[in-house]
Amino acid sequence: MSYNYNFRCSLCGNEYKPEEIRYLCPECSVDNKKGNPLKGVLLVEYDYEEIRNILADAGKKPDINFLMKYLYPVEEKYFPDYYCGNTPFTKSKNLSRYLNLENIFIKNDSLNPSGSYKDRASFLVVAEANRINEKTIVTASTGNAASSLAAVCAANNSKAVIFVPETAPKAKLVQMYSYGAQVIKVKGTYDDAFAQSIEYTNIQGGLNRNTAYHPFTIEGKKTAGFEIFLQNGSIVPDTIFIPVGDGVIISGVYKAFYDLLKCGITDKMPKLICVQAENSNAIHNFIISGEYKNALNPKTVADSISVKTPSNAYLARRAVTETGGFSVTVSDEEIMLSQKKLASLSGIYAEPSSASVFAGLEKSIRNKLITKNEQIVLLITGTGLKDVDATIRFTEGFEKESYI
Ligand SMILES: *Cc1c(COP(=O)(O)O)cnc(C)c1O
Ligand SMILES: [Zn+2]
Repeated sequence: MSYNYNFRCSLCGNEYKPEEIRYLCPECSVDNKKGNPLKGVLLVEYDYEEIRNILADAGKKPDINFLMKYLYPVEEKYFPDYYCGNTPFTKSKNLSRYLNLENIFIKNDSLNPSGSYKDRASFLVVAEANRINEKTIVTASTGNAASSLAAVCAANNSKAVIFVPETAPKAKLVQMYSYGAQVIKVKGTYDDAFAQSIEYTNIQGGLNRNTAYHPFTIEGKKTAGFEIFLQNGSIVPDTIFIPVGDGVIISGVYKAFYDLLKCGITDKMPKLICVQAENSNAIHNFIISGEYKNALNPKTVADSISVKTPSNAYLARRAVTETGGFSVTVSDEEIMLSQKKLASLSGIYAEPSSASVFAGLEKSIRNKLITKNEQIVLLITGTGLKDVDATIRFTEGFEKESYI
């Protein structure tokens, strides 16, 4: 077996062969339990020079098949029978008009089969499990990664073992059970579930899909970046608003455009905008101050981005600072008003974490961080049907100030 990539540690820069390592850089991750976000998360690196040459010889622009052949770490023969990704990318004239801007686009990843962006990561980790002949995949999740992994495992005839905090929304739990996963409810938070799932794989085995723990969670999540580029007529958009919890989606999108740049396919990066909930703001603070601190009490209605100790804070910060982006936080009230605005203006009922990007955009416009004709992409990561209770809880309180 020969590989088309190596791993490189995002902290110390050490390089590893795929066969000698599975999760984090051993040099930088002595204390990878709670409270230390600066783990040696591994990045997948390809032979960019060679890909440049292949492209030059071919003399044409790359399509998705080319990108998936040379810039994806697992071969197609290992893919699970699960169709995800390739979600719509469309301009919203209505949103553009409402915001008095020219170019608002939506990448609608709530249309993945399990209802969230997480399918992209689950797909690649299960493909990797097939490659190494591992039938059990383990994860901790606030809900979407778990329901997604359960779905892909169902299609692939694998076993999903899932650690969820008790607070996970009902619909996400119902999904996990329906897909036939083994669900272990953890008294405590997502961070506690994360620690327990790692203990499980250390003792019992199985492949751990934890976000920013298995390097393919970042690599899997990059495919939306490739799609945005191609669906946009092979043009890099100016700005992408991304909801941030652990910081893996934003790092994945960064990685896609980094790969394209390294291969000489593009010549610039999009500005990546980190949107977090006010109380779950560890990465935001890290970006603003350069100093890392856990979120004090990450309670927010946007459960998918509620994290005390984000597992990918370091790379998320880099994704923002190296692209000239910025970070913004939004309150629960702003998020829930945005959910309604986004739904009634675009026809997309997004889960609160996703709706936060619309709140983040409106706040950035108020703060004069946006120009009128810049091309802006809102990354919608999950469907609102995952947590209708959140909408019901908030609707009453908002009736009076509703803009309708
Ligand atoms: C997981 C998730 C996010 C946040 O992604 P991170 O990689 O944790 O930053 C945002 N929205 C939805 C719907 C999610 O499921
Ligand atoms: Zn390292």
